[in-house]
Amino acid sequence: MPQPADYRATVLCSMRITPTIWSIFLHVEGAQPSWFLPGQSVWPRFEREGKTFTKIYSIASSPTLAPEIELCISNVGWASAYMCALKPGDSVDMRGPYGLMTLDTVPETDLIYIAEGSGIAPIKSHIEWLFEQENLPNVWLFYGGTGPDEVPYHALWKDLSARELKFRYIPTVLGGAGEDLEVGPVEGVIPAFIKDREQARVDICAVGDRVDQIKAALLSQHFAAQNIRTERFCSY
Ligand SMILES: Cc1cc2nc3c(=O)[nH]c(=O)nc-3n(C[C@H](O)[C@H](O)[C@H](O)COP(=O)(O)OP(=O)(O)OC[C@H]3O[C@@H](n4cnc5c(N)ncnc54)[C@H](O)[C@@H]3O)c2cc1C
Repeated sequence: MPQPADYRATVLCSMRITPTIWSIFLHVEGAQPSWFLPGQSVWPRFEREGKTFTKIYSIASSPTLAPEIELCISNVGWASAYMCALKPGDSVDMRGPYGLMTLDTVPETDLIYIAEGSGIAPIKSHIEWLFEQENLPNVWLFYGGTGPDEVPYHALWKDLSARELKFRYIPTVLGGAGEDLEVGPVEGVIPAFIKDREQARVDICAVGDRVDQIKAALLSQHFAAQNIRTERFCSY
């Protein structure tokens, strides 16, 4: 497991990719492709009003993009607003990597990813890394957005599923019609697609209590508890 260290990063670009979610690319000084594992996070440190703050953000890109990383951040409060307001050329000190919902080899069993909102970040890192490897299992992405304009990376996932037979993408929204979008909570659509549930490996990333709700639904659908990993986005 890579050991955490201090890094200085410079913002390369920042884009609003949905009404509430930003994609921020940073150049991390001295970072090698092995400096983090897919799914790990960094703690940027920043100063405002004379105080130093830090919050944790998952890396949304494959380690092979080093020395660059992407962060995918929901603009929901004080720290995330600071991160989303960063401009090209701004620098950020950060410490990392941290996190255990990682991959270091290609699994043999099917992989099921379930994400909501910016919870796509660590899962995007997994999927991008996986599709750089060989001999993949089937990889499913069940992605839940609040509405048709809140499904970040929709075009990217559609493109990947058109090119890669091993990748299946099922986007869902809570409300509002949209082309190719299932309607309802993300956990509700899974049984229609996944029949062999006892062996499948599942990684879930969502905000707060949604992680527990999705996991409880999967257990009631006969997924095996020991095959389910979770990452909870919450504020410390
Ligand atoms: C391991 C880990 C990885 C994380 N990775 C990411 C990431 O990649 N992208 C990201 O946007 N956030 C991520 N977070 C959340 C992040 O650390 C902050 O908690 C978040 O940015 C809110 O901080 P704030 O100061 O802006 O708002 P606060 O005032 O602290 O929180 C405002 C409200 O937003 C809720 N909230 C926290 N995170 C989110 C979110 N992502 N989406 C919607 N509501 C949220 C809080 O529970 C709270 O109710 C991660 C958290 C953890 C524990």
